[in-house]
Amino acid sequence: MEKIKMTTPLVEMDGDEMTRILWKMIKEELLEPYIDLNTEYYDLGLEHRNETNDQVTVDSALATKKYKVAVKCATITPNAARMDEYNLKEMWKSPNGTIRAILDGTVFRAPIVVKGIEPCVKNWKKPITIARHAYGDVYKGSEMKIPGAGKVELVYTAEDGTQTKELVHEFDGPGIVQGMHNLNKSIESFARSCFSYALDTKQDLWFATKDTISKKYDHTFKDIFQEIYDAEFDEKFKAAGIEYFYTLIDDAVARVMKSAGGYIWACKNYDGDVMSDMVSSAFGSLAMMTSVLVSPEGYYEYEAAHGTVQRHYYKHLKGEETSTNSVATIFAWTGALRKRGELDGNKELMEFADRLEKATIDTIESGEMTKDLALITTIENPTVLNTEGFIKAIAKRL
Ligand code: NAP
Ligand code: MG
Repeated sequence: MEKIKMTTPLVEMDGDEMTRILWKMIKEELLEPYIDLNTEYYDLGLEHRNETNDQVTVDSALATKKYKVAVKCATITPNAARMDEYNLKEMWKSPNGTIRAILDGTVFRAPIVVKGIEPCVKNWKKPITIARHAYGDVYKGSEMKIPGAGKVELVYTAEDGTQTKELVHEFDGPGIVQGMHNLNKSIESFARSCFSYALDTKQDLWFATKDTISKKYDHTFKDIFQEIYDAEFDEKFKAAGIEYFYTLIDDAVARVMKSAGGYIWACKNYDGDVMSDMVSSAFGSLAMMTSVLVSPEGYYEYEAAHGTVQRHYYKHLKGEETSTNSVATIFAWTGALRKRGELDGNKELMEFADRLEKATIDTIESGEMTKDLALITTIENPTVLNTEGFIKAIAKRL
């Protein structure tokens, strides 16, 4: 068979620990036999980030702006223990944070749904994709403990020195207070990323806030979404046969539980933090969750939602057998290859991505899976495979 050609490179961001091992196996067993892989390779493994003073992370994000599509392996976010383990010059920032700051994107997390790994919510038949706004609110808040009686006010001082005040509370005893903010520009980017991704994946978009109580703060989110929708997306949504649906956050939560899935749920920062953990655990496994960073300019970076699976890596280093699930990392590659194919008009590449996803899902549905899935599947007597065995089983089917 002649290998599939790629006209434009894909930005490849290699990573750490067990996922770095999966990365190599996936390329060797599932991709390179069929595709003339054309990637611009960046080694985001912690050692190389340290050697380059983290410049490699910045370079990989800039390359993503150039080529528009990237695929990323999970990476270590250093903490005190990693400083010693890798003899680091500095506690380098989270690569995902650095990349997101450069691309100004929104992260969309979607579960991979297979028969035999059933969501806890029995009516969820299709994936629910969560989009979390990644700027501001309580995550950039300032807080005070109020020791006793006194007045708290919000004060805005404009550049010309004029002040606007708003009473927060007249305290008659001790209490607490919190100030938080957001930026119209950030909310606009978030809205555009959400609308674009909904069009891209042909799914409805839901958005919810508490605008009835928060008449200025949350209402601004609602208004910005509506203005951008009306001005830039209404016609495109109608042509694609999808819908933008706004409701109150408590109504949204109730509807999500009763829904069949199959839409994108855009959430403010805190709601997204909380709801994504609820939705992902209800869908079964972190190892079956993909993640894509979408910038308002239309740059895409695909990855698995889980980390580097450190515990499995240490077992692997000791020569013990591991059964690490590679599905989310495989789907990061298929997502990126499909998007590359779409942008380049490369139909063969898009079809290959479909085939690899189907082979992966069929492997699990036929009862061959890694240990994490075998523990939760409704399929009787599943065959538990090790890390490599699972990838080889997919390769055989492919
Ligand atoms: P993790 O890598 O997500 O793994 C936590 C646990 O979840 C594992 O020990 C394993 O449970 C299970 N698990 C996750 N992915 C799995 C898979 N593919 N197959 C089977 N089991 C899987 O989180 P962590 O161990 O807390 O973090 C390790 C490193 O990853 C940290 O240095 C962190 O900074 C980094 N991280 C990176 C990203 C990213 O790059 N996007 C995201 C999160 C964390 P059992 O051990 O019980 O089998
Ligand atoms: Mg959380």
